[in-house]
Amino acid sequence: MKVYLNGSLVEESDAKISVFDHGLLYGDGIFEGIRLYQNCIFKLEEHLIRLEKSAKAILLAIPLSRAEMAEAISETCRANDLVDGYIRVLVTRGVGSLGLSHTSCKQPQVVIIADTITLYPEEFYTEGLRIITSPTRRINPAALPPMVKSLNYLNNILAKADAQRSGCLEALMLNDQGYVAECTGDNVFIRAGDGWFTPPTEAGALKGITRGAVLELMEELGMPCQERNLTRYDIWTADEMFLTGTAAEVIPVVEVDERTIGEGVPGSRTHRLLEAFQKKARQDGRFLR
Ligand code: PMP
Repeated sequence: MKVYLNGSLVEESDAKISVFDHGLLYGDGIFEGIRLYQNCIFKLEEHLIRLEKSAKAILLAIPLSRAEMAEAISETCRANDLVDGYIRVLVTRGVGSLGLSHTSCKQPQVVIIADTITLYPEEFYTEGLRIITSPTRRINPAALPPMVKSLNYLNNILAKADAQRSGCLEALMLNDQGYVAECTGDNVFIRAGDGWFTPPTEAGALKGITRGAVLELMEELGMPCQERNLTRYDIWTADEMFLTGTAAEVIPVVEVDERTIGEGVPGSRTHRLLEAFQKKARQDGRFLR
């Protein structure tokens, strides 16, 4: 596999970053996860804008313009003859002294990995996920805005470990007020009667690109969704539930904290939405020239 590293495509074994990079020393950096569907990059512009906003929020200057980054991503996909896959873009703070100061780091490092994707096994789309609420709270937006897709995922990793200890693949994370923020790597949607709801990003969620695309689709499909603070009670008593994310797309949830959601099988509306999303994802992408 060829990896993009600061302007060059190098062999995987030569794609190396210094142990003095603050990305490694402190998790100081940002990233994006992007999908390639049949030679088309889905929502590339949105991902690049989110990357730029993450960079701005942490005072990091991305050394490539948006157009240069788009070209570097396309080039990496082409170099690996990828038709469908997952693209990981990282910008680390770069090499610096052993102190926290970001100003000691003079050259941010840009890495692009384009690989095949490991999806949730098919059975979870047909049967639905069982999840728990993690005792690990989502980081307070005033401490570190969860909208920043930073290289420091320890908060989510600890919640994922809680899920795994309970035999689950995902966990719901609450914010410090007890409202639902998101899952460890996915955004959350529920249906209560005829109403669809998702937590506002101010509740402590990443502003998911899939979430945005799904919100638009829901509007088109006549199932509009409102942003609202949700409690665990709202989740436990929901009639239908699904999660969204770049890797997961739209995945149904059928059990939360041993409470059955709806009839305990994926809802028909979730299926409709997944189908519509998969169609859109294959139509809307930016073609790799
Ligand atoms: N929340 C978190 C914490 C995430 O890491 C992700 C991305 N995996 C999402 C939500 C979903 O965002 P997107 O749809 O942009 O992948």
